[in-house]
Amino acid sequence: METDFFCHEIETLSREKLENLQLQRLREIIASAIKTSFYNKRLAKVGIKSPEDIKSIADVRKIPFTTKDDLRQNFPTGLLAVDMSDIVRIHSSSGTTGIPTVIYFTKDDLNSWTELVARSIYATGARKGDIFQNMMSYGLFTGGLGLHYGAERIGMTVIPVGGGNTKRQLQLMKDFKTTVLHITPSYLLHIHESMESHGFNTSDLSLKKAFIGAEPHSENTRLKLEELYGIDAYNSYGLSELSGPGLAFECKYKAGMHVWEDAYILEVIDPETGKNVEDGQEGEIVLTNLIRKGNPMIRYRTRDLAYVLTDSCKCGRTHRRLSRILGRTDDMLIINGVNVFPSQIEEVVMRIPEVGTNYQIYVDKIGALDRLTVKVEIYSKMFTGEVKQLDALKKKIAEELRASITIHPLIELHEPGALPVFEGKAKRVVDVRPSF
Ligand code: ADP
Ligand code: ZN
Repeated sequence: METDFFCHEIETLSREKLENLQLQRLREIIASAIKTSFYNKRLAKVGIKSPEDIKSIADVRKIPFTTKDDLRQNFPTGLLAVDMSDIVRIHSSSGTTGIPTVIYFTKDDLNSWTELVARSIYATGARKGDIFQNMMSYGLFTGGLGLHYGAERIGMTVIPVGGGNTKRQLQLMKDFKTTVLHITPSYLLHIHESMESHGFNTSDLSLKKAFIGAEPHSENTRLKLEELYGIDAYNSYGLSELSGPGLAFECKYKAGMHVWEDAYILEVIDPETGKNVEDGQEGEIVLTNLIRKGNPMIRYRTRDLAYVLTDSCKCGRTHRRLSRILGRTDDMLIINGVNVFPSQIEEVVMRIPEVGTNYQIYVDKIGALDRLTVKVEIYSKMFTGEVKQLDALKKKIAEELRASITIHPLIELHEPGALPVFEGKAKRVVDVRPSF
């Protein structure tokens, strides 16, 4: 019988049962963590010498946070809890913010991760019978292989093409009547812009859904993609340290991302004080992986900012939902003393109808002052208009941005295809200010 759930029982557990399961699994993870050189010392310092020292899930808060620096300093095996011969796969982060970090999986770890991804995909309504084109890069990055095995577990037909080569991607979509994509939102925007030049248009395609993630994007970007392609786009959030995708995913109601709480303890903290904040309040996401035994990860500070949604979801899943990622604590720009997140800029430019599918944030210094320039591609037809019209558009974009970020940026208008394109994670910010 067809149901809305991949695993009805787990996905709809009552809060009480969910918390009991979390406690049991937290103890198992502590047992593994004690076997690692890193956590062994850390846990002993706060008086945790055995799993029995954990009396409730709130006890997790006694344990210090784990940071990316901890992972780097304990590279390569400081967080490994099993013999290397029991590790069947290694992944690593993309290294957006420095040296990549490594993650290990045992056979059981891969199996339980795959289960989470399958659950996530299923929650969007994708099923056996769908043709799934996985356009995230395969390899060390968790996005490619993670979704791959989850989709296979559901029985979808997987096209493991990986990233890049737009023309070939379009040809595959057409030939195999691809119905579901997994892709970064920036690349999906770009494909639309360059589709015609490769001899395709949306009526050649059979797309119904896209799983978009791996990089920050705004609600307006989602809406734009849905409109351009006539699809539903579902947000997927994950990071390699916590095993990658399958951590938080939108269900068919697209109202925030369910975090699989049987597999993760979700906390949100004030990034300044490290104190836990209430549901609904914005802060830094902190996660404990409850199922990866080969490479335990306890209270990992993601540096991603979001908040927990407090209302229950129409789908009936009891696992709490996360808002979209509002920024990274480390991607905040300080421009003449004003804090600006790239996501605020994206939110504004992507709702302006004349703006096309790409933009870039450029920061430099003129004398002692910082200068913010927002470069946007606009649809070609705009360039046939009068200069006056272009000036008015620049003014409009600048004013809408000022209303949101309180500073007045310079606006540059570019023709479609003029700004750099990324087939993986987009690099939207170019900051050329001297760093001293
Ligand atoms: P890196 O930290 O090197 O980029 P990963 O490849 O593991 O390593 O990427 C994880 C990061 O990507 C997350 O911490 C988050 O900042 C970003 N990210 C992933 N998915 C999303 C999403 N759906 N929305 C916003 N940001 C995301
Ligand atoms: Zn839901």
